[in-house]
Amino acid sequence: MFQIEELCSIVGKENVICDELLSKHTTFHIGGKAKYFVSPNYIEDFVEAVAYVRKEKQPYFILGNGSNLLAYDKGYDGVILATHLPNRKIEACEGKVAMDALVMMPPKDERRKQFALSEEELSKKTVVFAGSGIMLSGFANIIGKKGLAGFEFASGIPGTLGGAVAMNAGAYGGEIKDRILGAMLLLPNGERRYYQKEELELGYRSSLVQKESLIVLWALFAFETGDISEIEQTMQDLNARRKEKQPLQYASAGSTFKRPEGYFAGKLIENAGLRGYRVGDVMVSEKHCGFVVNVGEGTYDEARQVIEHVQKTVQEKFNVWLETEVKMVE
Ligand SMILES: Cc1cc2nc3c(=O)[nH]c(=O)nc-3n(C[C@H](O)[C@H](O)[C@H](O)COP(=O)(O)OP(=O)(O)OC[C@H]3O[C@@H](n4cnc5c(N)ncnc54)[C@H](O)[C@@H]3O)c2cc1C
Repeated sequence: MFQIEELCSIVGKENVICDELLSKHTTFHIGGKAKYFVSPNYIEDFVEAVAYVRKEKQPYFILGNGSNLLAYDKGYDGVILATHLPNRKIEACEGKVAMDALVMMPPKDERRKQFALSEEELSKKTVVFAGSGIMLSGFANIIGKKGLAGFEFASGIPGTLGGAVAMNAGAYGGEIKDRILGAMLLLPNGERRYYQKEELELGYRSSLVQKESLIVLWALFAFETGDISEIEQTMQDLNARRKEKQPLQYASAGSTFKRPEGYFAGKLIENAGLRGYRVGDVMVSEKHCGFVVNVGEGTYDEARQVIEHVQKTVQEKFNVWLETEVKMVE
């Protein structure tokens, strides 16, 4: 029988919260109470927690930074397993790896051997190990300051590494697929397996992780050496472009819809006359029609109504179906 005390003993009592509002953990600021909200410090504890909820057949949901999610107002009647640790300092622990670990392995690092990387291809690159709970912004900033180039595109994406691999997140011409070497995944049968990049089936906002409900524990990346000031300048420029084009002053889950082949979702929505279309406190952004934003106390139902109205109207006017990029926590 499922017992919350058991989860507390696996991840630490301080890392389990009952009746936690999901609106506090989603960038849309929408979502009712989760029955249990569990955020382990270490990857090993996370794996054990997943095994326990699976064994006890509890509904569960893997949460990163909640930046691509729309959660029900009535909440989640199960266990939210969160990989991200906002404002938490992890004590070192023998034999355990922090959820937000970041380890750089330069070409001469002996540890690279265990991942069977091609030395020829990687002789000049630095391999970076990253835990699924690290934020992309932190990741990009840390490696940028060390003069590693190639992750600047990700610095403004407000998600975790695990969420970014699951979504194959991308921006400004770069995507996770371009830099990842492989990832350690947790399979439904509890086995852990390292998947090479090709096996991850990374496509436009899609991956094997999503298709088969796998869980990203950590991933490996490779970066070339670059000029620190150029890297920092590129990140600043890209973030300035975001500020200029995106409605960052409002809560949202980013681009609500995927880009349909041959079109831009925002342009179709604008041309359908839906700029500013509003239900309650949720609306199509005036600044960027590809974003549905929560301008106050928006609810799940309001967001769903806006999304469905946009889909229906664009379909009627242009015969194009807008598939949501945002995932539902239901
Ligand atoms: C203002 C704004 C701007 C954005 N800009 C971009 C952009 O430029 N490019 C872009 O691609 N996206 C963008 N996004 C969307 C979002 O940031 C990305 O999709 C991001 O990768 C989601 O990461 P997350 O950690 O927040 O995942 P969540 O939103 O928490 O989860 C998203 C999905 O991934 C799954 N997931 C999370 N962690 C794991 C894991 N460890 N293992 C398996 N599955 C997991 C969840 O179960 C869920 O299905 C933006 C969002 C906002 C709010």
